[in-house]
Amino acid sequence: MDLYRELFARVLFPAWESGLRRRPTLRHLAYLEKTQWQPLSDLEAIQACALQRLLRHAYANVPYYRSRFEAAGIRPESIHGAADLAKLPILGREEARDTVQERTATAGATVEVHKNTSGTMGRPLVFGYERESEYWRQATRLRGYGWAGCHLGQRALYYWGAGPPAGNRRPTLASRLKGFKIRADRALRREYYVDCGHRGAEELNTVVEIIRRKKPEVLVCYSQAGADLARHVVEHGLKDWGTIPVICGAERLLPTDRPVVELAFGPAVFETYGSREVMLMAAECPAHAGLHVSMETLVVEVVVRDPAGGDRPARPGEVGEVVITDLTNLAMPFIRYANGDLAVPAEPGTCPCGRAHPRLASVEGRATETLVDGSGVRVNGLVFNVVIAHLAHGIRQFQVVQHRDRSVTLRVVPTPSFDGQIESVLRQTWERYLPGVPVKLDLVPEIPIAATGKRQVVVVER
Ligand SMILES: [Zn+2]
Repeated sequence: MDLYRELFARVLFPAWESGLRRRPTLRHLAYLEKTQWQPLSDLEAIQACALQRLLRHAYANVPYYRSRFEAAGIRPESIHGAADLAKLPILGREEARDTVQERTATAGATVEVHKNTSGTMGRPLVFGYERESEYWRQATRLRGYGWAGCHLGQRALYYWGAGPPAGNRRPTLASRLKGFKIRADRALRREYYVDCGHRGAEELNTVVEIIRRKKPEVLVCYSQAGADLARHVVEHGLKDWGTIPVICGAERLLPTDRPVVELAFGPAVFETYGSREVMLMAAECPAHAGLHVSMETLVVEVVVRDPAGGDRPARPGEVGEVVITDLTNLAMPFIRYANGDLAVPAEPGTCPCGRAHPRLASVEGRATETLVDGSGVRVNGLVFNVVIAHLAHGIRQFQVVQHRDRSVTLRVVPTPSFDGQIESVLRQTWERYLPGVPVKLDLVPEIPIAATGKRQVVVVER
C-alpha cells in the first residue's frame, strides 16, 4: 500500500481543498462519482435541470443571449432538454471573439477566472468564468482521469507543453510567487512535469531516465508527444517497466499511434478530449469503447449543418462539428459554441463499463483547418488523415501545409517500408481532392513542433 497516496488523498488534499480553501471540488467529485452509475434517463434529467438554470439566467442577465432568444422567437421554457437546443443558433469562434462584452453576465454571476486561447489558429479568444465553475472543471477532470486509474496522490509524470516561451520579459515578484506556488502544489500532489516541446533523441532519453527514476504510476501526455516518446522507447528497446497507464490529451491520438503507445507502456491507453474553454469534455473508460461525455456539467452536441440553415445531430459514425454548452459557466456563458473541432458520435447504449453517458467514437481534429483546391473550393484537411491511416506501415507522421499561394507541401516521415506504391497513392489522393493545386512531397526525418508543444497535422498559412 502506498502510504503517501493514502495520506494525500484522504488527509492532506481534503484538509487543503475543503478545509483551508473551502473549495467544494471534492464534494463535486463525490457527486460525479455517484451520478456516473445512474441510468441515462436520470442523467438526462440532471442535465436538463442544469440547462434550464443556465438558459433562464442567460435570458435574464446576458444581453447577447437575450437577443438570440428573441430573434428565434423562443423563451428558455421552450427548451426542455439538450435535444431542444437546436432551436438556438450556433456560436462560432469568430463571433465568440467579437461578442465578449455582450456575452458577459450583467448580474447573477461574475467573471473571476480570466483566460484566453493560445491563438495559434488565429486571433486569441478571451473568455472567463466564475470560481464555482472552476471547481466543477477540476472535479470533472479528476473523475475522467480516475477512469484511467489516475488518482490523487499518485506519482504522475506529465509530459506536457510548457506553452510559448516567456521571451525577454523579466519575471516579476508576483509571477515568481505564482511559479513557486505551482511548483509546491505539484510536488505535494506528486505531479512531475517535463516539457514536451523539443523531442530530439537526447530529450527523449532524458524522459526515459526520469521514468526509470521516478517510477510514475501514470503518464499524462500530449498525445503526439506520448506517441513520439513511445516510438523512441520501442525503436531502442528501452522498456524495462511493467504497464504504465497513459492518459493522452490536448491533441489527437491518431489510429496509428495507439499500437506503439501500447507496445511502450502497456495496454492501458486512455484518450481524453478537452479544450481550454471548458477543460475536460470526454474521457475514455476502462472498456476502451469510446470517450464518455461529461453530461452532468456539459452538453456536447455533434452536429451536421444543413446548407439551407439549421443543423441536425450527426448519426453514429458520421463526422460532425463539436458544439458545446457549458452548464457551469454563468459569468460568460458558452451556449452552443462550435469550438472548431470535429468528432464522430458512437453508437448509443450503455457501455460495457456500465456508464450510460453518451460516447464519442473519435475526435477528428479542427474544422478550421480547411484546405482549398485550385478553384477555391474548400477541402476538409482530414482527407489525408483517412488515407494515411491505411498507409501506416509506410508513413510514421505527416503534415499538410497549404501556403498563401495555395500550393501545398505534404511532409511525410517515412518508415523503411515507404515505397513508390505508397507515393502513388498519395499522388492520387491529392490529384483527386486538391485539383489545380501544385503539391510537393517532402520526405523528412521529423515534423517540427509548434511553440505550444503541439504538432499540427494540417497547417493553413494565412
Ligand atoms: Zn465505458
